[in-house]
Amino acid sequence: MRNDAHLARRAANHRPLSPLDFLDRAVAVHPDRLAVVWRDQRFSYAEFGRIVARMAEDLRARGIGPGDVVSVMLANRPEMLAAHYAVPLIGAVLNAINTRLDVAAVAYILNHAESRLIIACPATAETACKAAHGIDCIVLDTETGPDFLSGDGRLPSDLLAEVADEWQPLALNYTSGTTGHPKGVVYHHRGAYLNALGNVLVLGLTGRSVYLWTLPMFHCSGWCHTWAVTAAGGVHVCLDRVDPGEILAAIGECGVTHMSCAPVVLYMLLNSPARAQFHPSQRVLVASGGAAPSVALIAGLEGMGFDFLHLYGLTESYGPATLCALSASDSALPTETKARLLSRQGSRHPTASGLDVVEADGAPVPHDGTTAGEIVLFGNTLMAGYYRDGPATDAAFAGGVFHTGDIAVRHPNGEIEIRDRAKDVIISGGENISSLEVENALHRHPAVLLAAVVAGPDPKWGEVPCAFVELKPGQMVDADGLQAFCRGHIAAFKVPRRYTFCELPRTATGKIQKFVLREWAKAAP
Ligand code: ADP
Repeated sequence: MRNDAHLARRAANHRPLSPLDFLDRAVAVHPDRLAVVWRDQRFSYAEFGRIVARMAEDLRARGIGPGDVVSVMLANRPEMLAAHYAVPLIGAVLNAINTRLDVAAVAYILNHAESRLIIACPATAETACKAAHGIDCIVLDTETGPDFLSGDGRLPSDLLAEVADEWQPLALNYTSGTTGHPKGVVYHHRGAYLNALGNVLVLGLTGRSVYLWTLPMFHCSGWCHTWAVTAAGGVHVCLDRVDPGEILAAIGECGVTHMSCAPVVLYMLLNSPARAQFHPSQRVLVASGGAAPSVALIAGLEGMGFDFLHLYGLTESYGPATLCALSASDSALPTETKARLLSRQGSRHPTASGLDVVEADGAPVPHDGTTAGEIVLFGNTLMAGYYRDGPATDAAFAGGVFHTGDIAVRHPNGEIEIRDRAKDVIISGGENISSLEVENALHRHPAVLLAAVVAGPDPKWGEVPCAFVELKPGQMVDADGLQAFCRGHIAAFKVPRRYTFCELPRTATGKIQKFVLREWAKAAP
């Protein structure tokens, strides 16, 4: 074709891709449809739009504007969902913080993100407000706190008015990597839009879907389901705590069709006494990831009425980057065989362009199911980079691909299956724990000479931190003492569950041989 000036982009045919557009459509096209359920409250899409508008107006009145970072430390409740729209609506960046973190970790994030304010709920207020040095800590459900759930509020006529560019930061999600400090993963509007639409396809979300929020929305923006469910025009059922009885009851009461969570939540459901009264009238699709699900778990769920969808990804990939689902012809297979197939991490998500498993020199591994290599990703649903960390960003994208640090094989049909992890991260119940951070806490104990922490297998949590400790000569402390000490220094979920007092295995250069410790942790659970 000839170069034709008439074909240039114009405002009429080129708009930034942004998940704000999903809300715009939902409010305009089906305002009366149910959007959000929380406790005994119900909100239509028009009402949810007003909650978003009120929050955006409130933030503006507090001086928040384009480029500012707004932190939230909230359970899954309507305001948390609304923040995923209200904050970007004014051109600001949403920083959703893990509600289980301790004061020091939250303070680090607020400081590193240069956050302008933090919104908390009664459950997180103490930690959030202690961590908020010099910035406002707004607490919901208090006399002085704002009420976003009722009152007036009008969305602007153009929800994308403050989105100058689809590459504009939308969210800043901190993840524990291999270093002691968490890294700030920057999501842009474009990636969130694409991943959300990919989720709609993969989960099969429609206007009749009822999605139960068992996954914390602070985890990778709820794997982008915060935007995907709205894109489909489905119902968000908010649960602000993970309780197996409440989950099973909500499935029945609300007619839940879909949910997502880490495998640990599913283990709780399988082992819950409330299971005896659980007779759902429809099958529920459960998308699980964040840690490897066992074959036994997947098989057990089928009998309970759940169809399993396996997702794999990272914070850096906006959540799901691969999926494993059964094909129509697989459904007649025996349960055990189906579960084995589903335990693979599978193939690429529809809106994630590329996936490979490569050897150290970057060459793809053969599709033989035995040669292991690192999973690398490339495409449109990867972070912009780590905030204020050029070296870590460059290292993650070295060689023109994103390095996951996960080790997998490729099967003859192209599916991947994770075998190991090259990075020094412990994944307990789907939450990342930096072993370095735990080691730093142990090293602050006066009796500890040297401490190393690795992942050990655990039937419920998948992995738990296991500490190997060498004491200073003449000093004494036991496992209980160290456990109590760690509780005072790091969040409860990071505290090691097992302690071994021994001489640590070292290389000739004095480096601790963590692979030996991992073997020991496996052998002595
Ligand atoms: P997420 O919220 O998805 O857990 P994180 O960034 O906290 O994201 O952790 C990502 C890491 O979790 C991956 O690099 C991988 O090691 C592990 N992971 C995620 N999903 C799976 C899965 N389905 N199977 C095995 N490991 C997984």
